Amino acid sequence: MSKQQPPVDGYCEQCGFNYDTGDLQGTVTLLIRQAADCAMALTKAAAGPDANVVRLRPEPEVWSAIEYACHVRDVLEVQRLRIAQCLAEDRPVYAPMDRTGRVKQEKYEHQDPIEVAAALMRFAREFGAAARVLQPQQLGKLGLYNYPVRAPRSLGWLIRHTAHEIQHHRHDITEILAKLEPPIVPKPKPEVSDEVADEVADEVAEVAD
Ligand SMILES: [Zn+2]
Repeated sequence: MSKQQPPVDGYCEQCGFNYDTGDLQGTVTLLIRQAADCAMALTKAAAGPDANVVRLRPEPEVWSAIEYACHVRDVLEVQRLRIAQCLAEDRPVYAPMDRTGRVKQEKYEHQDPIEVAAALMRFAREFGAAARVLQPQQLGKLGLYNYPVRAPRSLGWLIRHTAHEIQHHRHDITEILAKLEPPIVPKPKPEVSDEVADEVADEVAEVAD
């Protein structure tokens, strides 16, 4: 995560997300599609010729695909709980999710990619269900948010920001896997020693006779 901090409003040049476009339903649909892309990229890489690529960090300080996917899964769960908290409380103050602490505490790098992908999709659908039903008045409700600076943020912003998180990390995950995933090539044919080759040649000659 040593890369430049992505913006939390306007246009993100790294992944193309725009906070200023898209209504609620469109934003939620986009989020679910991007989550599905994350899950699919992870599953595909884990089923590929070298399943280990999901656990490789492209640089010591940049997360691996499984670490990003675990982060996306946890973001989706935490943000859904924050929607519920915001609706339930008068002056909601969100607890920080401790994004970097979780990597070690939850042993992200050892988690099973198939289980992570499934949970990520489940949490995306649950987040979407919680977000889609919000009324305009609810979308304007404020809560005190910690990232990247402590500031009051509306529920509408929280939903757009979650969609950005998922799109941004989908971009990270596919970029990392494209760098690391070995090219899919046919297995080399087993080498035939000269002796065996000679025997085969003799047999072929006998048959031909
Ligand atoms: Zn972005």
